[in-house]
Amino acid sequence: MNNTQCDKYVLPDGRELSIYFFAHASLMFQWGDTYIYVDPLMQYFDRSVTLPKADIILITHSHDDHYDRTAVDMLKKDRTVIISNKQTVQMYGSGEALDNYRTTQHCGITVKAFAAYNTTQGRDVFHPLGRDNGYLLTADGMRIYISGDTETVDESPEIDGCDILFLAVNQPYTMTIQQAKYFVDRIQPKIFYPYHTTDTDMRLLEKEFANHKSKTIIHSMQ
Ligand code: ZN
Ligand code: ZN
Repeated sequence: MNNTQCDKYVLPDGRELSIYFFAHASLMFQWGDTYIYVDPLMQYFDRSVTLPKADIILITHSHDDHYDRTAVDMLKKDRTVIISNKQTVQMYGSGEALDNYRTTQHCGITVKAFAAYNTTQGRDVFHPLGRDNGYLLTADGMRIYISGDTETVDESPEIDGCDILFLAVNQPYTMTIQQAKYFVDRIQPKIFYPYHTTDTDMRLLEKEFANHKSKTIIHSMQ
């Protein structure tokens, strides 16, 4: 995949998990033989590279920095499962609509939707409660949480102590560095990836997390 940033992990069953970081909120997980895209956008892809088709496409919500019909069309094959919130599934015209706290399972991976929303007064117009999703992916003794656009993360033993935590860090739409710090402190993931970091001062973020128990890995995800 040429120059796309990629981190590799070994799953408890010995298979490999590769995480590709395109840009902003656009990610791809190669989980063993399963290809999972999260919020794929054409503008973040290197057009000279042919990307593998998706087994699962997860879309957190319909904002145009997360949902791109052309990217979904390009990545899908006959059996691709498209999972999103109701609004985005309606816009796309097909897919599996997953409400907050509903669970589904595909390719041996359990996907649970969690609520993603703004908690600061006046900002709830961006992401009102009950509409958009964050996702918890669980399989093979591995738990990955992807926050979506939110200012909060549910207090849940399902999320606490997860292996990998993605938090969207940019105001006013998602978290401040301090909010992110609060949730990383509380959740204590093994690895923390800040993403969706548009205008966030990454040097300040790096400083804030420098001595944290959770390992913080920073890729360019503006
Ligand atoms: Zn959004
Ligand atoms: Zn966004």
